[in-house]
Amino acid sequence: MMYRDMVEWRGQNPPPATMMIISNKVRGVFDWDLLRLQQRTPYNLFLAYSVVPKVSILLSTSEEWCWKSLLKLSGPHVAVQGAKLYCNSCNFDTQSLKKFKKHIWSYEHVREEIINPTYDKVVCVTEKWGKNYKATPEFATAKIQVWWDMTSCPLPEGYDAHRVRPSLEAAFKELGYSGPVSITAYGDHNHTPLQALSSTGVHALHCVPDLPDMASVVEKWHYDNPPRAATIMMVISDHVDWISHYLVELLQENNYKLFLAYSFRPSKTSFLLTSAEWLWESLLAGSEQRRLVLHKCSSESGEPTATFNCSLCHFGTKSIDQFRNHLSTDKEHAKEEMRLPAVRKLNIKENRRSRVADFDRKGKRM
Ligand SMILES: [Zn+2]
Ligand SMILES: [Zn+2]
Repeated sequence: MMYRDMVEWRGQNPPPATMMIISNKVRGVFDWDLLRLQQRTPYNLFLAYSVVPKVSILLSTSEEWCWKSLLKLSGPHVAVQGAKLYCNSCNFDTQSLKKFKKHIWSYEHVREEIINPTYDKVVCVTEKWGKNYKATPEFATAKIQVWWDMTSCPLPEGYDAHRVRPSLEAAFKELGYSGPVSITAYGDHNHTPLQALSSTGVHALHCVPDLPDMASVVEKWHYDNPPRAATIMMVISDHVDWISHYLVELLQENNYKLFLAYSFRPSKTSFLLTSAEWLWESLLAGSEQRRLVLHKCSSESGEPTATFNCSLCHFGTKSIDQFRNHLSTDKEHAKEEMRLPAVRKLNIKENRRSRVADFDRKGKRM
């Protein structure tokens, strides 16, 4: 009930505005939907609860209080007239406390409560928000930054890598997005069609699997992109959850939108609010209509301006030959490639050891 009222209030009070929720039900009851709402419209949010949530809430709040300590902060007592006393079940309202008390105890009211119990399930308003939106004028020419995880979303067997960029651009254009597109491909570039990708201006970033570098790149990218400028981020990966906490923060606080592509549809709708989603292979296959636009896009891309980076050695170049040399013959690079998997295994072992120790410690106390 409270949640529905809040959604209604949002409809009538566009931002900037502040709302405050005093409830213990935010975590697990409101948060999924509210988190998605926050990515669309920014309101200041104050939270108060009597039980501190066990898991930190991803909601972006301006202030949080413990309800009891908040009540202690009282200033001078001021009597304010005009509090509204309202019975939702009977749609009865009054400003007189006496009348309200009388109503609550009345036969009509009790009967109404029983035959028409108050609906207390949270209706998630964002649940039915469609997946692929036509571009609004503000975003129609906004720049689009694509992060492509080639390990979880590789190129299909026999697919011409020259077609990646035009396929993406055509899919964007179908929805009305025609801003400049920058694509960075993450993967083991010893085994990717580097020539074809870079000739269409796809940047390459060499990294080892299971070592997500995206979060740090996304962070760096954010510094160069003013928060108020309309910008679109796209993640092509089956592991968007690895960086979703980071993305949600960017979406709450900036004028950004998010596109997603994955090789299979996630079973649960994420708390990330997207403006468009695709299945990776169907995005690449494109529709007939898209194929017509394809030629036009390819000719537009002009001179290749791809950059090549190795995240293991912090090595960067604009020459594909230098990059290939680095990956295949550089001794330091070879050492890094050997070292990293070992470090990773060690980390996993360490992590397990500390969790076991933690458990044992707690066990003794019980
Ligand atoms: Zn009533
Ligand atoms: Zn390297």
